Amino acid sequence: MAQNIILVFVHLYFLEQLHVYLNQNTCLIFVLFFPQSNEVPNSSLCEHEGLKRSVRFLKDEGLELDTLITDRHRQNNKWIKENLDGTNHFYDIWHVAKGTGKKLDALAKVKDCDIVGKWKQSITNHMYWSAGCTPDNNADMIVAKWESVIQHVQNIHTNHQNALFQSCLHDPLEDDEREIKWLNPSIIYYAYSN
Ligand SMILES: [Zn+2]
Repeated sequence: MAQNIILVFVHLYFLEQLHVYLNQNTCLIFVLFFPQSNEVPNSSLCEHEGLKRSVRFLKDEGLELDTLITDRHRQNNKWIKENLDGTNHFYDIWHVAKGTGKKLDALAKVKDCDIVGKWKQSITNHMYWSAGCTPDNNADMIVAKWESVIQHVQNIHTNHQNALFQSCLHDPLEDDEREIKWLNPSIIYYAYSN
Protein backbone atom coordinates (compact mmCIF):
# COMPACT_ATOMS: atom_id res chain seq x y z
CA MET A 1 0.00 0.00 0.00
CA ALA A 2 1.36 3.45 -0.92
CA GLN A 3 2.44 5.61 1.95
CA ASN A 4 2.32 9.35 2.28
CA ILE A 5 5.74 10.72 3.08
CA ILE A 6 6.03 13.75 5.33
CA LEU A 7 9.45 15.35 5.49
CA VAL A 8 10.06 17.55 8.48
CA PHE A 9 12.93 19.92 7.90
CA VAL A 10 12.95 22.28 10.82
CA HIS A 11 14.88 23.68 13.73
CA LEU A 12 15.79 20.91 16.17
CA TYR A 13 13.98 22.71 18.98
CA PHE A 14 10.75 22.26 17.08
CA LEU A 15 11.05 18.48 17.00
CA GLU A 16 10.22 18.33 20.71
CA GLN A 17 6.98 20.18 20.08
CA LEU A 18 5.93 18.46 16.91
CA HIS A 19 2.37 17.28 16.63
CA VAL A 20 1.55 15.70 13.30
CA TYR A 21 -1.57 13.72 12.72
CA LEU A 22 -0.54 10.38 11.31
CA ASN A 23 -2.54 7.45 10.07
CA GLN A 24 -1.47 4.01 8.92
CA ASN A 25 -0.72 5.25 5.42
CA THR A 26 1.48 8.08 6.58
CA CYS A 27 5.20 7.90 7.15
CA LEU A 28 6.94 10.71 8.99
CA ILE A 29 10.59 11.17 8.12
CA PHE A 30 13.18 13.43 9.67
CA VAL A 31 16.07 13.86 7.30
CA LEU A 32 18.75 16.37 8.11
CA PHE A 33 21.56 16.41 5.59
CA PHE A 34 23.53 19.50 6.37
CA PRO A 35 26.65 20.28 4.37
CA GLN A 36 30.01 20.84 6.04
CA SER A 37 30.63 24.47 6.92
CA ASN A 38 33.40 24.70 4.33
CA GLU A 39 31.06 23.61 1.51
CA VAL A 40 28.83 26.71 1.63
CA PRO A 41 29.63 30.38 2.30
CA ASN A 42 27.16 31.03 5.13
CA SER A 43 24.69 29.38 7.54
CA SER A 44 21.65 30.53 5.57
CA LEU A 45 22.85 28.77 2.43
CA CYS A 46 23.79 25.77 4.58
CA GLU A 47 20.14 25.32 5.55
CA HIS A 48 18.98 25.66 1.97
CA GLU A 49 21.57 23.22 0.68
CA GLY A 50 20.59 20.83 3.47
CA LEU A 51 16.98 20.88 2.34
CA LYS A 52 17.92 20.18 -1.27
CA ARG A 53 20.14 17.26 -0.27
CA SER A 54 17.46 15.80 1.99
CA VAL A 55 14.83 15.93 -0.76
CA ARG A 56 17.27 14.51 -3.29
CA PHE A 57 18.03 11.61 -0.92
CA LEU A 58 14.35 10.72 -0.65
CA LYS A 59 13.84 10.98 -4.41
CA ASP A 60 16.88 8.80 -5.06
CA GLU A 61 15.32 6.23 -2.74
CA GLY A 62 12.23 6.31 -4.95
CA LEU A 63 10.03 8.00 -2.37
CA GLU A 64 7.40 10.56 -3.37
CA LEU A 65 7.13 13.43 -0.94
CA ASP A 66 3.53 14.17 0.03
CA THR A 67 4.16 16.89 2.61
CA LEU A 68 7.10 19.08 3.53
CA ILE A 69 7.31 21.11 6.75
CA THR A 70 9.92 23.87 6.93
CA ASP A 71 10.60 27.25 8.47
CA ARG A 72 9.89 30.42 6.48
CA HIS A 73 13.28 30.67 4.80
CA ARG A 74 12.67 32.68 1.59
CA GLN A 75 15.16 30.81 -0.52
CA ASN A 76 13.57 27.50 0.48
CA ASN A 77 10.11 28.78 -0.41
CA LYS A 78 11.22 29.75 -3.91
CA TRP A 79 13.00 26.45 -4.48
CA ILE A 80 10.05 24.40 -3.20
CA LYS A 81 7.64 26.28 -5.50
CA GLU A 82 9.87 25.69 -8.50
CA ASN A 83 10.88 22.10 -7.79
CA LEU A 84 8.25 20.35 -5.69
CA ASP A 85 5.04 20.75 -7.62
CA GLY A 86 2.45 18.46 -6.06
CA THR A 87 4.04 18.43 -2.60
CA ASN A 88 2.09 20.10 0.20
CA HIS A 89 4.28 22.68 1.89
CA PHE A 90 3.55 23.85 5.44
CA TYR A 91 5.41 26.20 7.73
CA ASP A 92 6.23 24.90 11.18
CA ILE A 93 4.22 26.86 13.69
CA TRP A 94 7.10 27.33 16.10
CA HIS A 95 8.77 29.75 13.68
CA VAL A 96 5.52 31.51 12.78
CA ALA A 97 4.60 31.98 16.45
CA LYS A 98 8.10 33.19 17.24
CA GLY A 99 7.83 35.85 14.51
CA THR A 100 4.43 36.94 15.79
CA GLY A 101 5.80 37.11 19.35
CA LYS A 102 8.56 39.47 18.19
CA LYS A 103 6.01 41.75 16.55
CA LEU A 104 3.94 41.78 19.76
CA ASP A 105 7.07 42.62 21.77
CA ALA A 106 7.69 45.59 19.47
CA LEU A 107 4.07 46.73 19.76
CA ALA A 108 4.21 46.49 23.56
CA LYS A 109 7.02 49.07 23.54
CA VAL A 110 4.84 51.68 21.82
CA LYS A 111 3.35 54.39 24.07
CA ASP A 112 0.07 53.24 25.70
CA CYS A 113 0.38 49.76 24.20
CA ASP A 114 2.24 48.03 27.03
CA ILE A 115 -0.82 45.89 27.82
CA VAL A 116 -0.03 43.95 24.64
CA GLY A 117 2.91 42.39 26.48
CA LYS A 118 0.53 40.71 28.93
CA TRP A 119 -1.42 39.23 26.02
CA LYS A 120 1.60 37.89 24.14
CA GLN A 121 1.51 34.36 25.55
CA SER A 122 -2.26 34.00 25.13
CA ILE A 123 -2.11 35.24 21.55
CA THR A 124 0.69 32.87 20.54
CA ASN A 125 -1.06 30.02 22.37
CA HIS A 126 -4.14 30.80 20.31
CA MET A 127 -2.07 30.45 17.15
CA TYR A 128 -0.96 26.94 18.20
CA TRP A 129 -4.54 26.07 19.08
CA SER A 130 -5.91 27.36 15.74
CA ALA A 131 -3.61 25.04 13.80
CA GLY A 132 -3.42 22.13 16.22
CA CYS A 133 -7.16 21.85 16.77
CA THR A 134 -7.96 21.77 13.07
CA PRO A 135 -6.77 18.25 12.25
CA ASP A 136 -8.10 18.21 8.68
CA ASN A 137 -5.77 21.15 7.93
CA ASN A 138 -8.63 23.23 6.59
CA ALA A 139 -6.64 26.40 5.92
CA ASP A 140 -9.73 28.64 5.80
CA MET A 141 -10.86 27.34 9.19
CA ILE A 142 -7.39 27.80 10.69
CA VAL A 143 -7.35 31.42 9.49
CA ALA A 144 -10.89 32.02 10.79
CA LYS A 145 -9.95 30.67 14.23
CA TRP A 146 -6.74 32.68 14.28
CA GLU A 147 -8.47 35.93 13.26
CA SER A 148 -11.00 35.53 16.06
CA VAL A 149 -8.28 36.47 18.54
CA ILE A 150 -8.65 40.09 17.39
CA GLN A 151 -12.19 40.11 18.79
CA HIS A 152 -11.39 38.03 21.86
CA VAL A 153 -8.67 40.41 23.10
CA GLN A 154 -11.26 43.20 22.93
CA ASN A 155 -13.71 41.22 25.10
CA ILE A 156 -15.87 40.32 22.10
CA HIS A 157 -16.64 36.60 22.02
CA THR A 158 -19.54 36.28 19.59
CA ASN A 159 -20.52 37.59 16.16
CA HIS A 160 -17.00 37.32 14.80
CA GLN A 161 -16.76 38.59 11.23
CA ASN A 162 -15.56 35.35 9.63
CA ALA A 163 -18.61 33.15 9.00
CA LEU A 164 -16.55 29.96 9.48
CA PHE A 165 -15.85 30.72 13.13
CA GLN A 166 -18.35 33.14 14.56
CA SER A 167 -17.96 32.56 18.31
CA CYS A 168 -15.18 31.72 20.75
CA LEU A 169 -15.36 28.16 22.06
CA HIS A 170 -14.43 28.93 25.67
CA ASP A 171 -17.03 28.87 28.43
CA PRO A 172 -18.76 32.11 29.38
CA LEU A 173 -16.31 34.21 31.39
CA GLU A 174 -16.59 34.32 35.17
CA ASP A 175 -16.69 37.70 36.91
CA ASP A 176 -12.99 37.67 37.80
CA GLU A 177 -12.10 36.73 34.21
CA ARG A 178 -14.07 39.73 33.00
CA GLU A 179 -11.70 41.96 34.98
CA ILE A 180 -8.89 41.14 32.56
CA LYS A 181 -7.43 44.21 30.88
CA TRP A 182 -8.76 44.04 27.36
CA LEU A 183 -7.26 45.77 24.38
CA ASN A 184 -9.01 48.87 23.12
CA PRO A 185 -9.72 49.41 19.41
CA SER A 186 -7.07 52.11 19.08
CA ILE A 187 -4.31 49.56 19.83
CA ILE A 188 -5.76 47.16 17.25
CA TYR A 189 -5.93 50.00 14.73
CA TYR A 190 -2.32 50.95 15.45
CA ALA A 191 -1.19 47.32 15.07
CA TYR A 192 -2.83 47.04 11.66
CA SER A 193 -1.70 50.41 10.35
CA ASN A 194 1.99 50.11 11.25
ZN1 LIG B 1 -13.32 34.80 23.52
